[in-house]
Amino acid sequence: MAEGTAKKQEAPAETQDLTDGFHLVIDALKLNGLNTIYGVPGIPITDLTRMAQASGIRVLSFRHEQNAGYAAAIAGFLTKKPGICLTVSAPGFLNGLTALAHATTNCFPMILISGSSEREIVDLQQGDYEEMDQLAIAKPLCKAAFRVLHAQDIGIGLARAIRAAVSGRPGGVYLDLPAKLFGQVMNAEAGRKSLVKVIDAAPAQIPAPAAVERALDVLKGAKRPLIILGKGAAYAQADDAIRDFVEKSGIPFLPMSMAKGLLPDTHPRCAGAARSMVLKDSDVVMLIGARLNWLLSHGKGKTWGEAPKKFVQIDIEPREMDSNVEIAAPVVGDIGSCVSALLDAMGSKWDAPPADWTNAVKAKRDENVAKMAPRLMNNNTPMDYHGALGALRDIIKERPDAILVNEGANTLDLARGIIDMYQPRKRLDVGTWGIMGIGMGSAIAAAVETGKPVLAVEGDSAFGFAGMEVETICRYKLPVCVVVFNNDGIYRGTDVNTAGSDPATTVFVKGARYDKMMEAFGGVGVNATTPDELKRAVNAAMDSGHPTLINAVIDPAAGSESGRIGNLNPQSVLKKK
Ligand code: ADP
Ligand code: MG
Repeated sequence: MAEGTAKKQEAPAETQDLTDGFHLVIDALKLNGLNTIYGVPGIPITDLTRMAQASGIRVLSFRHEQNAGYAAAIAGFLTKKPGICLTVSAPGFLNGLTALAHATTNCFPMILISGSSEREIVDLQQGDYEEMDQLAIAKPLCKAAFRVLHAQDIGIGLARAIRAAVSGRPGGVYLDLPAKLFGQVMNAEAGRKSLVKVIDAAPAQIPAPAAVERALDVLKGAKRPLIILGKGAAYAQADDAIRDFVEKSGIPFLPMSMAKGLLPDTHPRCAGAARSMVLKDSDVVMLIGARLNWLLSHGKGKTWGEAPKKFVQIDIEPREMDSNVEIAAPVVGDIGSCVSALLDAMGSKWDAPPADWTNAVKAKRDENVAKMAPRLMNNNTPMDYHGALGALRDIIKERPDAILVNEGANTLDLARGIIDMYQPRKRLDVGTWGIMGIGMGSAIAAAVETGKPVLAVEGDSAFGFAGMEVETICRYKLPVCVVVFNNDGIYRGTDVNTAGSDPATTVFVKGARYDKMMEAFGGVGVNATTPDELKRAVNAAMDSGHPTLINAVIDPAAGSESGRIGNLNPQSVLKKK
């Protein structure tokens, strides 16, 4: 503000314009456009939350830090700015760590800011209030971790955290702020000057022209090419370039879960419904912001078939290349720059892939879609997954700008395949780890960051990890409609304990009414027993924008163990019958 004013004589402390650690943290966040905090107040950051709110920052207070952390992580994915999660010391910090690790694993930019106890006491292990060496504990779980001890370093500390979170491969960053820092007082003008506005926090990373040429050569030699779009491609917000590239190349594309909608699932080149076939039969596979991790069977084995394959990979992280199989054409850079460079180098003439391949993909896709169609239209009571998801599929088709949050086992795996997406970054789910419990945090952040209506489709078990946040949804009056697929348990509600009177390990209270939880806080609760009822209730919720929870009664016998990843669930062959 007073940038150019002449240097005043140092005034006595009591007449000086002063600032303190609290104000500097808030000013540093605002200077960098970080205007939303997800957190839980308490010692030593209670006043920070109050003052932040008074200063115009939106502060969302959660009921548990883990959910605030998931909100911050997905806010980072949606906005390309680090999502901020603010917690108290030791237990609050630990509750936030799962989300920090999740953000890092998923390449989402996030900053976990935690208050902490005093260094002098912690380091001598003298038993301070909530004593814990938080910095050391955070380090292996995030991309970078910093601690600020002096008020004049708050500006630099936050700048480093922002850059670490968003530059290169995005990830989670931990920022440790000991309690004593907040009360440290300094001259206001000096404080202002100590703040840093981060310029070009995530600089473009331009691919080498030779790498672009190499990639195009490999693609030109393909007889059965395939593009796989991952959530890195969705994150990059290079939507137009990606669409142009897919359309100009004419190559079928397969969206990973959170890349669905980058191009509509109904696009003529979409191979989503022919997944098994294209993974097996393709000869050249181009990965755009997707990793060859477990979700893609590491690029080898039965899923990928016998015939040799060549991989082209676009990624911002050079070390991602060859992580599982040899990459014939690595293109390192940010996806926007890489895809634009490819488009330029393709020139005006580009031969579409052989028609027998694209026709075969289309035929397989149409066949699978047709096979599924009648199952989605059943109106059975109790509902099965297909009947219930068929209703929700129609709703997203009619409301393509709504955000779909999805977690569970069967509820996740089936919804991913059944519900078509039409716009980028509208599908938010369990990510790389398949975390249960992300739903409420994601739904809240999606509503806050985008202002769009949110439909959260939740398994009953998944919902339970964060169910108390329905109070948060009601308190902030967010346009969130939660649908709990209630099949009385984990995977199924039919297991029986034959050895005693306790319930089986995978079952919950039969006939539970999750809708009553929403009513307890002033939201709308609905019990839906048919797909028609479900559809009516969701439409009403989406029209009104009122916080709503629909208890969707699903046949307890409808699910399968571990959903579609039963192969990862070891089972004893020695089990007593
Ligand atoms: P999915 O699970 O959808 O396949 P992954 O999380 O496995 O996606 O992969 C995302 C990839 O995208 C990561 O390897 C990450 O480095 C990369 N990535 C993220 N943002 C960008 C970007 N802006 N430019 C290029 N690559 C990116
Ligand atoms: Mg269940």
